Amino acid sequence: MSDVVYDVAIVGGGLAGINAGVTAWEEGLSTILIESSDEFGGKLRSDRDDEGFTYDRGFQVNFSSYDEIPVYAQGLLGDLAESYSPGAKIVGCGELNQWDPLKSLFCKAVSLPDLLTLLKLNLFAKKWQSFQTRQTAHEFLVEFGFSPNCIAKFFTPFLGGIFLDRSLSFSARQFLKTWFFLSQGSTVTFSEGIQCLPGALLSEFALDPSNIETAFHKRLNSRVTSIVPSEGGFDVSTNSELIRARSVVIATDPSAAGHLLSQQFKADYKSSICLYFSSDKQITSGRSIVLNPTSTALINQLVPLSNVNPACAPKGKNLCSATIIGERTESDEELAAMAINEMNTWGMNLPPLEFKRAYRIKEAQLLQDPGFEDNVSSIETHLSGVFLAGEMTTSSSINDALKSGRLAAEAALAYLKNK
Ligand SMILES: Cc1cc2nc3c(=O)[nH]c(=O)nc-3n(C[C@H](O)[C@H](O)[C@H](O)COP(=O)(O)OP(=O)(O)OC[C@H]3O[C@@H](n4cnc5c(N)ncnc54)[C@H](O)[C@@H]3O)c2cc1C
Repeated sequence: MSDVVYDVAIVGGGLAGINAGVTAWEEGLSTILIESSDEFGGKLRSDRDDEGFTYDRGFQVNFSSYDEIPVYAQGLLGDLAESYSPGAKIVGCGELNQWDPLKSLFCKAVSLPDLLTLLKLNLFAKKWQSFQTRQTAHEFLVEFGFSPNCIAKFFTPFLGGIFLDRSLSFSARQFLKTWFFLSQGSTVTFSEGIQCLPGALLSEFALDPSNIETAFHKRLNSRVTSIVPSEGGFDVSTNSELIRARSVVIATDPSAAGHLLSQQFKADYKSSICLYFSSDKQITSGRSIVLNPTSTALINQLVPLSNVNPACAPKGKNLCSATIIGERTESDEELAAMAINEMNTWGMNLPPLEFKRAYRIKEAQLLQDPGFEDNVSSIETHLSGVFLAGEMTTSSSINDALKSGRLAAEAALAYLKNK
């Protein structure tokens, strides 16, 4: 065991843990970030294959309006960002741009009153913070005045893809918050994949064991197995070492946090499957996602990834992803064949598609029923000096994960100051 006692040990190197580390380090705390897997990033991971395709582990986007990304990282990410076109192509209906309804006059998913209601919604969402409701998104959209056709053809696949729930039974408040961030900027991906985001956050810190007071220390492939109060702080045991710290931030998934604290945290998740296909020709022109409004849909949305981010495919090739909501019992190859059959009925004249790989993400999105905001886990735990971060203390989003990390680090700082 080393004699070093860190001010704060952070368990879990997803966005929440990374931002907790960044915040603590910026406050002058000696910090160690401990991650069980082989890379930092948590749910934001990208893989590159030998041919030169880059695959995110599930289709993810960043909103340029997210306000928790530190300024130094924004600078780096700005150079790598590639934007999607606003709105979407809706199978059988044409294009819809929800921020500029005049461009959507010929879209069969909306009537003229729907377009006016969209304008009203864009203004209304600005006040999302003061909107207290226990309505589902579906109840809200009906009451707000959208037609059943617009809800079925546009909101169902559009929001269904974001919240992984085509019944739109998630919190209306959460929907308005997301709509607000969407409306305030562009929807972006990064030229080297979504993992650029955690990469940019970590870019400032060099591992320098000689300078324990200022260095930001990191461990990979280190699973924390226990956190035990000890004299002056905590013994944090991993599979390979014992780390001592005066305070701890747990930024793992709910079940790992529950294990470490001998406590149960609410952990109901929604799942999704992301299928990747390559083609010689573009699957569609432009940078819009393609939404499937069919009530029996297998594929919720098709995304022409390399139209937006050419660097994700080798020269002369194209890459797209197709998202299935929920879990399936079929094999990856069976699902890929079913997906191609379905997409060939969309009248898009798709080029031949080659199935590349699938990601099955069991714990993709926390269940965010109406009112869940009032029942998220608190940052404080039953162990004084141990704090919680991560989506379970806020909601499932990049911005909220970052925010939760910052808040937990600030709580650790206040604790250490008062000790
Ligand atoms: C498919 C998908 C699509 C999404 N799309 C979007 C989107 O478009 N926009 C958006 O804003 N958000 C999106 N999200 C949500 C967003 O990615 C997450 O809310 C966020 O990344 C969660 O970060 P986190 O740090 O809380 O948790 P995680 O990323 O889960 O990080 C937890 C980390 O803890 C580590 N860990 C667990 N146990 C231990 C242990 N015992 N010791 C050490 N380490 C441990 C894990 O390996 C992991 O790295 C999406 C999520 C998914 C899965």
